[in-house]
Amino acid sequence: MRSSSSSSTTPADPGEAETFAELLARVRACTVCAAHLPYPPRPILIASPTARLLIVGQAPGRRVHETGIPWNDPSGDQLRQWLGMTREQFYDASRIAIVPTGLCYPGTVKGSDLPPRPECAPLWHPLLCAAMPEIRLTLLIGAYAQAYYLGKRRGRTLAETVHAWRDFMPEYFPLPHPSPRNRGWLKQNPWFESEVLPALRERVGTALATGDNGGAHRQT
Ligand code: SF4
Repeated sequence: MRSSSSSSTTPADPGEAETFAELLARVRACTVCAAHLPYPPRPILIASPTARLLIVGQAPGRRVHETGIPWNDPSGDQLRQWLGMTREQFYDASRIAIVPTGLCYPGTVKGSDLPPRPECAPLWHPLLCAAMPEIRLTLLIGAYAQAYYLGKRRGRTLAETVHAWRDFMPEYFPLPHPSPRNRGWLKQNPWFESEVLPALRERVGTALATGDNGGAHRQT
């Protein structure tokens, strides 16, 4: 474990506008919560200023930490199946940004992944979102992403939040985590596959389609 440092979060010259590449370099150099991580920080995200769809998940698991590729695991396979996307489409950084609630692998306890580090989303998400003005839709995958972005607008349970997905449009589309461990949830909530997934694909298709004139988050 490394010692904590906040120097990497400070732009070299606050008087000058930061480019997207500089912001990304600053994120990737972050060591703010290093003392709490099981390995040296490895922020894992994909982002570009032209992205139109933002995917916000929980935090990298161990396999993703090792490969450095987000959603490069069975959960990612399931998510791509839900979205009807190939890996090539999913990892097209010019169109899709992938920024988890916690950017670094937080470790495990008794075989379960720890929650995302609480410092991470408040530190980086506002800056990254502000630097991606073309985002039209944000997928909130799992309870941590929904807690950060929806706050008190969430339902009492994840199922309630996902079932009420229309309430959060056009900015946000809440989803359960596509982990194989969630197969029980999917069986208990068959409306998700029959009703929500077709709507999800349609909304994602609209967000990625070219030809409209503004992002959902853009002030007009
Ligand atoms: S989890 Fe987030 S805050 Fe912590 S070191 Fe990684 S990027 Fe920085």
